[in-house]
Amino acid sequence: MHQKLLLTLATIFFFVGLNAQKLSKQEIKIVKNIEQNNPEAISFLEKVVNINSGTLNLAGVEKVGKEFATAFEGIGFEITWIPMPDEMNRAGHLFAEIKGTKGKKLLLIGHLDTVFEEDSPFQTFEMVNDSMAHAPGGNDMKGGDVIILYALKALKENGLLNDAQIIVAFTGDEESSGNPLEKSRRDLIDAAKRSDIALGFENSTGFNYATVARRGSSGWKLEVEGKRAHSAGIFSENVGAGAIFEVSRILNGFYTDVKGEDLLTFNPGTLLGGTFVEFDDKKSEGTVFGKTNVVAQKAEVRGGLRFISEEQKERTRTKMREVVSKNLPHTSATITFTDSYPAMQPTSGNETLLKKLNKVSLDLGQGEVLAYDPGKRGAADTSFVAEYVDCLDGLGTMGNAAHTPEETVNLNTIEALTKRTALLIYRLINEQ
Ligand SMILES: [Zn+2]
Repeated sequence: MHQKLLLTLATIFFFVGLNAQKLSKQEIKIVKNIEQNNPEAISFLEKVVNINSGTLNLAGVEKVGKEFATAFEGIGFEITWIPMPDEMNRAGHLFAEIKGTKGKKLLLIGHLDTVFEEDSPFQTFEMVNDSMAHAPGGNDMKGGDVIILYALKALKENGLLNDAQIIVAFTGDEESSGNPLEKSRRDLIDAAKRSDIALGFENSTGFNYATVARRGSSGWKLEVEGKRAHSAGIFSENVGAGAIFEVSRILNGFYTDVKGEDLLTFNPGTLLGGTFVEFDDKKSEGTVFGKTNVVAQKAEVRGGLRFISEEQKERTRTKMREVVSKNLPHTSATITFTDSYPAMQPTSGNETLLKKLNKVSLDLGQGEVLAYDPGKRGAADTSFVAEYVDCLDGLGTMGNAAHTPEETVNLNTIEALTKRTALLIYRLINEQ
C-alpha cells in the first residue's frame, strides 16, 4: 500500500519536474489560465458563428466585428473600425492595438467574414459529438480569431502585455477581397510596416504543421484574332491559319515551353472560339457563334497562374508573352495579366519563426511542428504582408471541409492551440 503510494507520488513529481523544466513558472500560469477560460472561449465561438457574416452581408460582418471589438477592449486594446467606401461593397476591417516598445512587434491576422452568405442553408453551430462542431466559418476562421483573443486574454490576465506592441487585424473581406486591392489591403500592409512579425490564424493544415510559404496567384486573358473568310481558303496566302489554330498553337506552346518549374502552375479555365465570342466575367459564362465553313475570327482564353516568388511570376509572364508573339499567318494575339495574391516566399526569417513555434510546441509536450507543403496551401491575407515581415500562417483551428456546408471545427484542439499561440507571443514580446 505504502509502496504503491510512494511510487505514485514519485511519478507525479517526475512529470511535474519534467514540465517545469521546459516551461517557466510564468508560462505554467498562462497555460492554466487558458484551461480555465476554455469553456468561455468555446461559447464565444458558438456565439460569433451564429451571427451570419458572409462577405456580402455587411451588417453581419460588422456585428461579428463588434463582438470581437468589445472583447478586445475588455483586455485593454484600442479599437479602430476601418470602413470601406460604399462602391466597394465590403464591410470594413477591425483593428485592435496595444502600443509599446518591448521585444518583437507583432501583427496577428484573422478575418471576420465567411463564404456562407445569408441565403445559405448552413447558418448555425451544432455539436456533432463531444469534440466536433458543425459550424459555418467556425474553422475558416472564427476559430482562429478566438485563439488570438484567448491567447492575448491569458497574457493580459497575468499582467504580461505591458509595453508590448501588438496589432490584431481582422479583415472583413478575406473570402472575397474588395477591389481595388490597393484600398482593401492598405491598412493591413501599413500595420505590417509597423511590425516585425506577422502571425496568421487561418485554419490549420494539421496539428503539427504551419505555413512558412504559399503560392501567389494571378489571372491571365488571351485574345486571338484571325481573318474571317470562307473555310475553303484556310492555309492560303490570303487567309492564313484562323484564330482557333492560333490559339491552339499558343496553348500547346505554354504546355511544352513554359511548364516545368517547381511550384509553378498555370491553368486555362475557359476557351471560346468562332466568328463572334462573348464572355460575361461576372457570371463566368459565355457564348459563341460560328460555322464549320467559316475560318474562325476570334478566340479567347481565361486562365490562372500560381507561383512561389515574384521572380517566378515575372519570368513566366515573359515566357508566355514570347510564345504568344510568334503568330501564325494572318493572326494576331495578345495576353494580359492581372495580379491577385502575391506569393509568400519561403524566407529564412519565416523558417526561424517556425523553429520558435516548434520549440514552444515541444516544451508544451505537443510534438514537433513542420513546414506545410507550399504547393498545397491556398492564398490568404498573410501573403499581402509577407514582403514586409517574417511570417507564419495556418496557426488556427483544425477541422474539416472548410468552404462547404459540411464544415466542422475541432473544439478539442482550441485549448492546445491557444496555449501554443500564447506562449509563442509571450516569448516573442520578451525577446531582446
Ligand atoms: Zn479564411
